[in-house]
Amino acid sequence: MRVRHKPWAADFIKAHPEIIIPDPEKCKGNWKELFENNNPLHIEVGSGKGQFITGMALQNPEINYLGIELFDSVIVKAAEKVMEAGSPKNVRLLLVNGAELEKYFEKNEVSRIYLNFSDPWPKTRHAKRRLTHENFLKLYEAVLVDNGEIHFKTDNRGLFEYSLVSMSHYGMKLNYVSLDLHAEMPEDNIMTEYEEKFSSKGQPIYRLEAQFQTKQS
Ligand code: SAM
Repeated sequence: MRVRHKPWAADFIKAHPEIIIPDPEKCKGNWKELFENNNPLHIEVGSGKGQFITGMALQNPEINYLGIELFDSVIVKAAEKVMEAGSPKNVRLLLVNGAELEKYFEKNEVSRIYLNFSDPWPKTRHAKRRLTHENFLKLYEAVLVDNGEIHFKTDNRGLFEYSLVSMSHYGMKLNYVSLDLHAEMPEDNIMTEYEEKFSSKGQPIYRLEAQFQTKQS
């Protein structure tokens, strides 16, 4: 994604701690307190301009959602979207790197991880940057509940094929695979900004649900 510098983004973020959580490492192990309930926590890594996480929060008030985004100029757009939706209490945003999830979550603290239209990093030498690389899967497993799930959507066939192989090498179980989500269009599908853009051009959207296979000791 092309990221435009927004000089006012830092001030905007400081002015909205109720949506973009300051010092999120202090919430590690205590997200239930922040949300003031015991509901499951679902996170999206690379939430972009926030349409998915906001839509999910409105659709599922019994789930807590965190959108994780790397760039301040992008997260401010997501924060505006949350505000436009009336600032639902079950959605917050984190301006952090998804490669450092263990700084912010304890094992078993996250019930599901969403990856939507993650950057494809098509060059082989950049494979470690793909959010479905083995190193990221390890990280997700370290914060998810036992047998936790990853739900992944993309327009990028190469990244989808890579992710199927990466997840299956990791020993994950595939519970759902679609090569054309919009041909099925489940009623509860919440579209992301990228999904709207690519599907409007007639491109197929790929989707999978994969589950870690926790070994019981
Ligand atoms: N999910 C959104 C959608 O479908 O419209 C945005 C997709 S965009 C291609 C990928 C987003 O992931 C960008 O906003 C980017 O800044 C963010 N991103 C990439 N790597 C990240 C990381 N390691 N941690 C957090 N966000 C990341």
